[in-house]
Amino acid sequence: MRLLILSDIHSNIDALDACLAAAGGHDSVANLGDVVGYGGAPNEVVERVRDLAEICVRGNHDRACSGLTDTTGFNPIAGAAARWTFEKLTEANRQWVHDLPRGPIIDANWSGLQFVHGSPFDEDEYVMSDPIAEMIIAESPFDLTFFGHTHLPAIYALRGPEMLDVQLEKGNRDEIGVQKVELEVGTRYLINPGSIGQPRDGDPRAKFAVYDSGENSVTFYRVPYDIAMAQHRIIGAGLPMRLAARLSEGR
Ligand code: ZN
Repeated sequence: MRLLILSDIHSNIDALDACLAAAGGHDSVANLGDVVGYGGAPNEVVERVRDLAEICVRGNHDRACSGLTDTTGFNPIAGAAARWTFEKLTEANRQWVHDLPRGPIIDANWSGLQFVHGSPFDEDEYVMSDPIAEMIIAESPFDLTFFGHTHLPAIYALRGPEMLDVQLEKGNRDEIGVQKVELEVGTRYLINPGSIGQPRDGDPRAKFAVYDSGENSVTFYRVPYDIAMAQHRIIGAGLPMRLAARLSEGR
């Protein structure tokens, strides 16, 4: 069975649709949070994800954009985007975002897996280093944890007491990048597919991943999309220019 793993879509419908077109066949879809915030198409993205994703976790922007929490801790640009998104969302869509469940989420169809936004122990934690990842894997009973929040594709692997070094390749940024990583039995993983709507790894392509339970593999995708259109929506909405500019940089 193939599971499409989407994270940090951030109201970017152009990036999301390009990823869905590149993804090919799949049996189910998981969304790791931050469906909204930053981008110019919150309703379009909520409606697409609501129809598609059986597994959903809330993110910190989902909380702020639906009024569940205020924008304390957000920088001024993120705060402005959250307030704009709150106003722009239809009542039904805002309610759907508001009601997204806190992670970790487990699903009967996907044994051994859990889905979180930040970490299994703190939905707002940024997991960006080997020591933190090692601690989380060691303390978690799951073989495979999918997480988001950092907007950086990553694979952390713990075999016995040893962290393995698994490198992700960027390749040519004008093309769709596809990298399959075979998972090993007896090794436990913490995997981030990267961000669809606001990549921050210096590569502007939209990122997602596919988990294949039959093959026991995760394939990382990097997909070029119509960045100019996504920027046009942000500027047209009167959102801060920086939110448009950073999409070209992938920062
Ligand atoms: Zn995010």
